[in-house]
Amino acid sequence: MSKRICPVCGIGALEKILTSITLSDPSGIEKTIEISEYKCPACEAEGDLFGENDRVIQDEYKKMRAEAVASMLEKFHSKKISLSAAERVLELPQRTLSKWKNKSMVPSASAALLIRYVNLFPWLLDVADNKFNPKNAQQMHVAAAMRDLCEMTKGSDVTSLSAGIVENLNNAVFYVNMEKGITQRSIMDTVTSASTGLMVHSGACEYSYET
Ligand SMILES: [Zn+2]
Repeated sequence: MSKRICPVCGIGALEKILTSITLSDPSGIEKTIEISEYKCPACEAEGDLFGENDRVIQDEYKKMRAEAVASMLEKFHSKKISLSAAERVLELPQRTLSKWKNKSMVPSASAALLIRYVNLFPWLLDVADNKFNPKNAQQMHVAAAMRDLCEMTKGSDVTSLSAGIVENLNNAVFYVNMEKGITQRSIMDTVTSASTGLMVHSGACEYSYET
């Protein structure tokens, strides 16, 4: 095979240099691919002289994205997320998610981003299901954070968790109360006794979650 001629000077017979590069996807998938670069002995131009590598790299990223989304969707079942229900609340055409799952269709970069978010924060589907009502969304967000907090205390002796806001005209205190055992003095007692007379009421927005 004859050598390619340098597109810069039009004279040099290019030397092909193969380089390995490793691409990585946020989900942890890594792939090493070989790309070609060229060096001209006549004018010393070098690099991706024909602009071919970008496309090769983008194609690989696309395959990795398809793989990442498929493996995330495979776990939706264990998270008790139904693909058809998710399609409905995300207003995706029917069977879109199953096509992404079986890799018969490749999600766009922004669609993959959506799946990454839903995979991390499944309660975002409930937010969508509630027509993005800001107040409901806040409640879901906090409730989900409470559940996560609870998960994080698993293995410790925290038996229940509650959170809320106590406030008067000038101040508001957000509290998270982790109860250990049965007769632990609650943090509410601590808060109120530490600032006597300051806290006038609680309960405007309280969440609780039992372990
Ligand atoms: Zn050249």
